[in-house]
Amino acid sequence: MSEICSCCPRHCGIDRNNTTGFCGVPQLPKVAKAFLHMWEEPCISGTNGSGTVFFSGCNLKCVFCQNYEISQEGYGKVITVSRLQEIFLDLIKKGAHNINLVNPSHYTKAIKEAILPLKQQGRINVPIVYNTNGYDSPENLQDMKGITDVYLPDFKYLSEKTAVKYAAAPDYPQVCRNAIIEMHKQVGSAVLDSSGIIQKGLIIRHLILPGHVKESIGILNWISENLPGDVYVSLMSQYTPYYNAKNFSEINRPITRNEYQRAVNHLYKLGLEEGYVQERESSDTQYIPDFNQDGV
Ligand code: SF4
Repeated sequence: MSEICSCCPRHCGIDRNNTTGFCGVPQLPKVAKAFLHMWEEPCISGTNGSGTVFFSGCNLKCVFCQNYEISQEGYGKVITVSRLQEIFLDLIKKGAHNINLVNPSHYTKAIKEAILPLKQQGRINVPIVYNTNGYDSPENLQDMKGITDVYLPDFKYLSEKTAVKYAAAPDYPQVCRNAIIEMHKQVGSAVLDSSGIIQKGLIIRHLILPGHVKESIGILNWISENLPGDVYVSLMSQYTPYYNAKNFSEINRPITRNEYQRAVNHLYKLGLEEGYVQERESSDTQYIPDFNQDGV
């Protein structure tokens, strides 16, 4: 593994074997939970569940993060690459439709080291889902080329101002746009099998933020203008003001019915009809896993 970490757009340039950078985690993977997740999009969770591995640490650290215990407060267990392989194989044995890597951007080297030999040995027979906040460097995505079958990026912020305020990442909008274009180049549009389970392709997630519907509309416009009409979009309404959202009055509430409707109407107006629209009533804690190192 490389000594100097530059594997995400933060380019911290530190040795994660001895210290930590912005993401706050070491070079070896730190994992908070591995289980069959039933609450992802239907084409990912299916009937058996998505073989989900929640990685700790984060290169964005959004102020309202619902997974703040693992993304920002350090919860999780450091494991070896061979243990990570065992976790993947165990999830497949349990019937997982896929291996769903949640927040993998700061562990791509370890993940590649774990997956590549298993794929070469024919022991991974389900799609690999790269489930990311969208703050991925081109080098990272090149590293995952041929390993990732499904890219599941967020597109969180459109304006530099919002990205600075909530995630200290002024370059997020440009990095994310470039990342999504590269992801689509690698895997193309979504391909589902006869049971409706995704095998390959791109699904873009966008969480509507209170008071920021104009950004949602701008993000949908960008998708419509830059990607084919059959692109899958997952429009999410589950925003709940977690963690430090209480310090930002404009986002310290769920979205309103009107905000929800404006975003949904715009999605349909653009003809982006492939994908999913989450019911507004979905802003509930039931969708947040209990992080307890199960399966780790
Ligand atoms: S992965 Fe972590 S340490 Fe490496 S550049 Fe990104 S934030 Fe910094």
